[in-house]
Amino acid sequence: MVEPKARSNNANADQDQFLTILSREDALSRFEAALFPRDLVSETRTLAGALGLALAGDVVAVVDVPPFDRSNVDGFAVRSTNVVSASEASPVRLGLNDEAIACGVAPKVLVTDNSATLIATGGPIPRGADAVVMIEHTQPAGMGAIEIRRSVSPGQFVSYAGSDIARGEVLLRAGTLMGSREIGMLAASGVAHVQVTKRPRVAIISTGDELVQPGQPLRPASIFDTNGAIVTAAVSENGGDAHFLGAFPDDEDKLEAVMRGALEASDMLILSGGTSKGEGDVSHRIVARLGKPGILAHGVALKPGKPLCLAVCGGKPVVILPGFPTSAMFTFHDMIVPVLRRLAGLPPRNDARVMAKVPVRIASELGRTEFVMVSLVEGDDEFIAYPTGKGSGAITSFAQADGFIRIDALAEQMLAETRAEVTLFTPHVRVPDLVIVGSHCTGLDLVTAPLAQAGLSVRSISVGSLGGLSAARRGECDLAPIHLLDEKSDTYNRSFITDGLDLVPGYRRMQGIVFRMGDNRFEGLHADEAVRTALQDRSCLMVNRNQGAGTRILIDRLLGGTKPDGYWNQPRSHNAVAAAVAQNRADWGMTIEPVARAAGLGFIPFAEEHYDFALVTSRKERPAVRAFLDALRSLEVRKALEQAGFRPA
Ligand code: AMP
Ligand code: MG
Repeated sequence: MVEPKARSNNANADQDQFLTILSREDALSRFEAALFPRDLVSETRTLAGALGLALAGDVVAVVDVPPFDRSNVDGFAVRSTNVVSASEASPVRLGLNDEAIACGVAPKVLVTDNSATLIATGGPIPRGADAVVMIEHTQPAGMGAIEIRRSVSPGQFVSYAGSDIARGEVLLRAGTLMGSREIGMLAASGVAHVQVTKRPRVAIISTGDELVQPGQPLRPASIFDTNGAIVTAAVSENGGDAHFLGAFPDDEDKLEAVMRGALEASDMLILSGGTSKGEGDVSHRIVARLGKPGILAHGVALKPGKPLCLAVCGGKPVVILPGFPTSAMFTFHDMIVPVLRRLAGLPPRNDARVMAKVPVRIASELGRTEFVMVSLVEGDDEFIAYPTGKGSGAITSFAQADGFIRIDALAEQMLAETRAEVTLFTPHVRVPDLVIVGSHCTGLDLVTAPLAQAGLSVRSISVGSLGGLSAARRGECDLAPIHLLDEKSDTYNRSFITDGLDLVPGYRRMQGIVFRMGDNRFEGLHADEAVRTALQDRSCLMVNRNQGAGTRILIDRLLGGTKPDGYWNQPRSHNAVAAAVAQNRADWGMTIEPVARAAGLGFIPFAEEHYDFALVTSRKERPAVRAFLDALRSLEVRKALEQAGFRPA
């Protein structure tokens, strides 16, 4: 797009700004200083209408609860001095007053010496009485009299006025989030309306030519708008009144019109994408024109999340989150949630933080605050936070992650065994019943399916066979799925099982060559022959696997030291290999048979791999582990595995 001159200048100014990278702390304090202190808008709401909102001020009790001295039991109101000597052996006889005090009945008759009045639970204590004898400890004694068979102390079974809530007492503090418990307390004190902080109205906009809303068909090279949905939900979770306006192409004039309208109508504007230095990145240029004081930070020493842009325009916060969904999530939870909650009158989210031990060393870049996604599992006496999908930026790593830890900008690493604070994506930790750490396989889902049906939650963390084995040795998981070939003995898995672990046989999976059906370079050949042909054809492109994968060992064996074209294309999963071949980005690769079949590709078997489980012996008796072992041996699961192309052991 050719831009008018004035705009280009503006853009240059922005780029200069981007060169000044602020620390996380500086960026946050500039942002907060430009927004606070400020008066929050409050509104009056009914109790029911206040659910989920924050109280704008303290609520003081205007009445006592209970409002009068009240009986806690069904029985007789008496003067305690009259029944001091009462016992089963020598009951005391009292005259019955001509009154029965039910709930909601105001007493009229005085309880005089040697008299008693029938009273129900919740009934007001009549004048003259100071205690209640339970009905179980009395006996009718003819017309107009009662026998008392137990002595009572003064005040027994009486709740005094104001003993629950005293008039003038602060019932709830400003900032309290209104839930059913708070609503109940206020109802008990006769409060019908409360002043709550108005939810800030937050407009959310996604930007990017490539974005398509979920539910719409994908165009070539387009992707689904993920940030729109996540940010909208996360804003609601943190006290905002979220309004998602859609995804807009990187068209400066149109986007500016949308952003101006959105800011006009809202208290806060959150965009994502278009914040880097690229030509097509326009949103930050628009933000620079939206009002004073303008951009406060553009470029923050975060990893990931460096292009974060924080601004205040006409007193309203305007944020551009980085485009990558994981970066957007980290920066949103770490930097935006605190501000949003303050605008909503809510206290900091303490329920969304837990301490946990990080079992492994994590290297970190010096000079940038680093976010690392973690998955929580229950250790012996504390939570353990497992780093997951580090640096992948993959949205699916969210599925396994409970939250993230922050590694300080001045640290080059986080040492193994460090205790770190985990910021949860959603409050309250849900610890899984069964933790599987190791090599992932699509067959595993078939084995765990019956557990999910039985209400057991399973967390499966993919770290490869060797990583899983270490986790099992440290007792951080129940099971580690492994497929490790011992080259010396040419056997799978057994030689890797050390003290404290048991080997549970899993299933076999055929590894082999995938190719597009009908490709004569492969059709009908043995694996060795097929690879020889492929190596002779210079136009034939392979797709490899990552270092450390069991499959990679097999590929290297087959190639015998040659590195043909495509060797450096090293995706991390069986499915990525199949996708590369199916989409014509490569002609052959190695994957497991079920994946090749599911992708409709040709397959030449090469080696049968043993996919087994290293079981942590001390966890053998856990119900979820037993359920897993039962499932693995069940006829149903074995059938399902066979159908998917696996061979149960
Ligand atoms: P950008 O900062 O606009 O260059 O975006 C960086 C990366 O994030 C690109 O790969 C975008 O396609 C991706 N991205 C941007 N916005 C979204 C979104 N709303 N949902 C999913 N991915 C996005
Ligand atoms: Mg973009």
